[in-house]
Amino acid sequence: MQLYNTETRRKEVFTPLHPQEATMYCCGPTVYNYAHIGNMRTYIFEDLLARTLRLSMPLKHVMNVTDVGHLVSDADEGEDKMEVATAREGKSAWDIAKFYERKFFEDFDSLHCTRPTVVCRATAHIADMISLVKTLEDKGFTYRTEDGIYYDTSKFPRYDALVGRSRLEGLKGGARVEMSAEKRHPTDFALWKFSPKDKKRQMEWDSPWGIGFPGWHVECSAMAMKYLGPTLDIHCGGIDHVSVHHTNEIAQSEAATGQKYVRYWVHGEFLVLRAGKMSKSGGTFVTLQTLRDKGYDPLDYRYLCLTAHYRTQLEFTYESLDSARRSLQTLRREAYKTQQAAERQHGKLTTPRLEEMKNKFRAAMEDDLNAPKALALVWDVLRGAELNPVEKVSFLQFADGVLALDFFREMQTPPEEELPPHIQDLLARRAGARKAKDYKTSDELRAALAQAGYMVKDTPQGQQTEKIR
Ligand code: AMP
Ligand code: ZN
Repeated sequence: MQLYNTETRRKEVFTPLHPQEATMYCCGPTVYNYAHIGNMRTYIFEDLLARTLRLSMPLKHVMNVTDVGHLVSDADEGEDKMEVATAREGKSAWDIAKFYERKFFEDFDSLHCTRPTVVCRATAHIADMISLVKTLEDKGFTYRTEDGIYYDTSKFPRYDALVGRSRLEGLKGGARVEMSAEKRHPTDFALWKFSPKDKKRQMEWDSPWGIGFPGWHVECSAMAMKYLGPTLDIHCGGIDHVSVHHTNEIAQSEAATGQKYVRYWVHGEFLVLRAGKMSKSGGTFVTLQTLRDKGYDPLDYRYLCLTAHYRTQLEFTYESLDSARRSLQTLRREAYKTQQAAERQHGKLTTPRLEEMKNKFRAAMEDDLNAPKALALVWDVLRGAELNPVEKVSFLQFADGVLALDFFREMQTPPEEELPPHIQDLLARRAGARKAKDYKTSDELRAALAQAGYMVKDTPQGQQTEKIR
């Protein structure tokens, strides 16, 4: 497996530190609002990585849930996003976190992202964070200001590891603008923030330094090392996390342990709208529910994501989503026909050719997750004559284990074109009746369809039929 490592800026062969199990940490959601489809693009790429790695090795995959203390700006200024949400929704911070976490996992599951081995909530690991900050304090990396305990980035020589020296200078310039008076260097960041004296926070904890809450960066370092040890194989996230969040994670973790924190940093590019970046705090954003409301299936969106390499920006448009949906439906129809042909044929699995195609698929995914190439291969195999139907089915099952697009979903539902003409006619008339809100006729036609052996269901995508005998 080759992976592009943000730190070394090149593709490298991936080998796990411990052959018995690879380790991977992915920054999870902040649960003060719905996740948008840009966030979900990152989780889809991480899922592809997990599924591809698991073709050849066991993997421990850890993901956090940020349910506390995420400030509006990366510079540790501004309001806490969770407390802002409380005011907006009139619910307790705990209820908000619970609600959006549930919503997040509904989206996560419907996109066929595999649940991580460990999902850890920040609020359940405050003691681990305090202990990490204490270690940093004992080693002389911290200082105290009016509003918290800060990390002194000038004491950590490798602070430019991810971004490089020249970009770091630029970032410092930007950070200086919003720098609080007591911060010693523009890149210094809060490890522990004190609760405001004049306001009671809903989420706050006692600590050796006073009542308050952890900084965001310390959450990930503490939880990643708790579950995966001081050195992780892979750490993932979106590209926006490179310059501040992950840079700070390295500084905290390596200063505390004296060991290398992450061996391969893997970052996914953004999903963008024509108008620019999609961001949660920016106000407007598209969620998976927006797509469902418009009649799309979450896997249409997964397909769209797989058409672009994870390290290239993907511009989201409804035209491209429509095209992804059409492709996926065609693919499933052809998979269905292939399956039918395979049943008729009782063909043999001539393994060398089948193995060769599976290996090609795997090679594409193992080349820094080239999903577009792997997807193109699926089409070639499906339409080409290299494999017989039985082999094709086996290949598709294998590919679907990684791409997770439900190629054989049509198995229960005959595709529309396969329906006998008189059934298609009844369905068309029923669609017309429903459009005219003539529910009496629509119910009669449903009964006629049932009589003919077809059950009909009304879904956001239209009528769906299932043969009942
Ligand atoms: P957040 O909940 O904002 O911390 O983001 C969760 C994940 O989504 C992180 O890995 C981010 O880097 C990633 N992310 C945020 N915005 C986008 C976007 N527009 N496209 C792709 N990934 C994103
Ligand atoms: Zn993180």
